[in-house]
Amino acid sequence: MSSAPGANHAAQRLFFALWPNAKLQAALHLAGESLQKAFGGRVVRTENIHLTLAFLGSVPAERADELRGIGSSITVERFQLKLTETGCWKRSAVGWIAPESLPEPLKDLMLDLRSRLLAAGFRVDDKPFAPHVTLLRKAKCRPQPAGEQIPLEWRVDHFTLMRSDTLPDGPQYSQVGTWPLS
Ligand code: ATP
Ligand code: MG
Repeated sequence: MSSAPGANHAAQRLFFALWPNAKLQAALHLAGESLQKAFGGRVVRTENIHLTLAFLGSVPAERADELRGIGSSITVERFQLKLTETGCWKRSAVGWIAPESLPEPLKDLMLDLRSRLLAAGFRVDDKPFAPHVTLLRKAKCRPQPAGEQIPLEWRVDHFTLMRSDTLPDGPQYSQVGTWPLS
């Protein structure tokens, strides 16, 4: 029997993320268009907008179940993010929006994930966690004119494990697992 392209054999590019609902993704896309006036670049497609919790890189397909196990072992309370801060990182050429503060449950979620991933032998990047939602790619970072930003409220009640495929017209993300927060 032949396998469909993308079937579960080769390695997959995976990451844990917070995934906004479609309504918030649309609002974030608008915020991206407004940020584009300051930094140029390309606005991330609405359906691709997310916040990365832990990037795993390439993972053998047979380890996906282990990652689902790690996802189900997390017990963290739901929380709210107030997205108020915008900015631009020159090194990665991304324009972003970020929460005004790091709520304790988000910190716990990220720390629990990282420690369980490390204990299971996954490689996770050890850069300090800077939660942000990328809105612009190929941004030209420069001083941002002061402007009012309407804060976006995000009630976070679940997190996801995502697979990333690079297609000719850009990345495509598909959900591999999802877990509710308590
Ligand atoms: P593409 O690389 O196909 O242009 P992308 O960067 O959105 O698109 P991925 O590289 O698969 O897709 O990354 C998925 C998520 O993980 C994105 O939010 C990305 O910013 C983040 N990410 C990618 N590489 C790293 C890394 N080395 N450390 C931390 N986060 C990363
Ligand atoms: Mg990338």
